[in-house]
Amino acid sequence: MPELPEVESVRRGLARALTGRTITRATVLHPRPVRRHLLGPDDFVAQLAGRTFAEPRRRGKYLWLPFADGDAVLAHLGMSGQFRFSAADAPHAPNTRVLIDFADDGPQLRFVDQRMFGGLSLSEGGAELPPEIAHIARDPFDPAYQLADVVRRLRRKRTGIKRALLDQQLVGGIGNIYADEALWRARVHYARATDTMSRASAVAVLTAARAVMAEALDAGGTSFDSLYVDVNGSSGYFDRSLAVYGREGEPCPRCGSPIRREAFMNRSSFRCPRCQRTPTAGHARF
Ligand SMILES: [Zn+2]
Repeated sequence: MPELPEVESVRRGLARALTGRTITRATVLHPRPVRRHLLGPDDFVAQLAGRTFAEPRRRGKYLWLPFADGDAVLAHLGMSGQFRFSAADAPHAPNTRVLIDFADDGPQLRFVDQRMFGGLSLSEGGAELPPEIAHIARDPFDPAYQLADVVRRLRRKRTGIKRALLDQQLVGGIGNIYADEALWRARVHYARATDTMSRASAVAVLTAARAVMAEALDAGGTSFDSLYVDVNGSSGYFDRSLAVYGREGEPCPRCGSPIRREAFMNRSSFRCPRCQRTPTAGHARF
């Protein structure tokens, strides 16, 4: 799933090409991507006509396209959702699911999704923050994000640090890739018990998470999957800068020890066995 930097890359592309444009017509080519719109595809299409987009917004990994009238389209990229702009008469890319035409006769917005875990739904009153994602915590790039508050709540939890980083109700936007990279930078093992961490160590991990995501954003995100692309069809190149994620057996960029991959929460964790030592029994929560 795309994480914060990849979603923000998409949001920036949409902000340039969508803001201020008025919809004339929406076309749903496959009902599955609008399944979260409970009144069905016909209602989705009818609701969109005549609305004008304001600037797209994001919280954590979640993206929404506000309308000037206070409602919004909530966009789930899922595993493979993409927004593309094309001339209305250009051939459809494979897996094109939804089309949106505009009054200015400029490029058509197309939602393309191969696996269709993603989708679009109308969020009434969702322009400021869709109620569907109101439980998602602010991410480190949110102007109202409070590092000290997140650190305090993190150290009250009785869990492992990586589980805490992935908890979108504690801090938004961090997924498997950037959690592993942040922990490597801060030299912390993923199972370190949050309630035994020093304040300084918790600050270091969260600060590293913000830094690594900022660098990834500058690189356009990480192309961990060829299905993830921005609105121009390009994927980011931050995967070249990853220190541990996906690098099993390769040398740690800091100490040269071979990177280790371990099963974690039905996925994998990558760490340096020397820089990120396994905590002692009383300091670990797997
Ligand atoms: Zn190392």
